[in-house]
Amino acid sequence: MRVLLALGGNAMTNADGRARPEDQIAAAGVAMAAVAELLEADVEVVITHGNGPQVGNLLVKNELAAGVVPPVPLDWCGAQTQATLGFVLMNALEAALTEHGVERRTATLVTRALVDADDAGFTHPTKPIGRFLPADEAAVLVEHGETWEDRGEKGWRRVVASPEPVEILDAPAVQALVEAGFVVVANGGGGIPTVRAADGTLHGVEAVIDKDLGAALLAGTVAADVLVIGTDVPHAVLRYGTPDAEPLGTVTVSQLRAYAAEGHFASGSMGPKVDAACRFVEAGGSRAVITDLGHITHAITGDAGTVVVPD
Ligand code: ADP
Ligand code: MG
Repeated sequence: MRVLLALGGNAMTNADGRARPEDQIAAAGVAMAAVAELLEADVEVVITHGNGPQVGNLLVKNELAAGVVPPVPLDWCGAQTQATLGFVLMNALEAALTEHGVERRTATLVTRALVDADDAGFTHPTKPIGRFLPADEAAVLVEHGETWEDRGEKGWRRVVASPEPVEILDAPAVQALVEAGFVVVANGGGGIPTVRAADGTLHGVEAVIDKDLGAALLAGTVAADVLVIGTDVPHAVLRYGTPDAEPLGTVTVSQLRAYAAEGHFASGSMGPKVDAACRFVEAGGSRAVITDLGHITHAITGDAGTVVVPD
């Protein structure tokens, strides 16, 4: 059995959201202990991850240093965080594997995901990223070509495109590494958003791809049997945050789509996870699970978390 495990940003930070290097290393250790257990049980695992907090930190460095060194584009931030988090995850996984007496090699792939240059997000960017800044500081970044919006009392905030991932451009390399027996970390942060120009050349673009939608695409690419979305809540919940809240257990894909259409899942957080789980099952996957890190191993075979199955 092959599992695609998508780790949320919280899997790479402290529970309180801090992302000091030691917090990220400790959090990776917790997640990779679960992965080592799966590998010991002969479950194949391919790993992807979010990068929101890490890119957020890089953006702050860009902002503070913009008058001294040129800010690097968002696709570069994506590439940098894929490499850094992959390195942290490989170290953590290899340590956990040694503890379990399992011998496996690990590899991280800097991965590009194709997006459509005509995606509506590029003409009307909607995804707010990074921190709020006063108008004069935002102006420096606008001079560097970024789009910032006046958000009233809180200050200015950068908005970027969040285009649909169309294709994992480095899929053949992911597949070759998987077939060669490596435990692969790939397509972090949903993939580096890349467009193909009319002459066929590829170029990174200033955008962020939703990590969960990138995970669904990667899961299909590596022919995963199960997609596990590891986040910080044990279930997707109906009427979330109300006295009538109801955690979802096993649910068919069309039933879950119907709940989503009723607006049960917030667009910036649980919404894309539900969408990704549905896409995976609709494309022929046998099961997708949304749950927290503590339940990852039970998610594969047991009934932990929200389990999405074909109709
Ligand atoms: P990650 O960093 O793992 O990608 P997110 O923070 O984006 O995770 O999404 C998980 C969060 O979604 C939960 O912590 C919860 O606050 C929020 N959420 C919104 N709507 C729901 C819902 N209907 N059921 C469960 N969680 C929800
Ligand atoms: Mg989170």
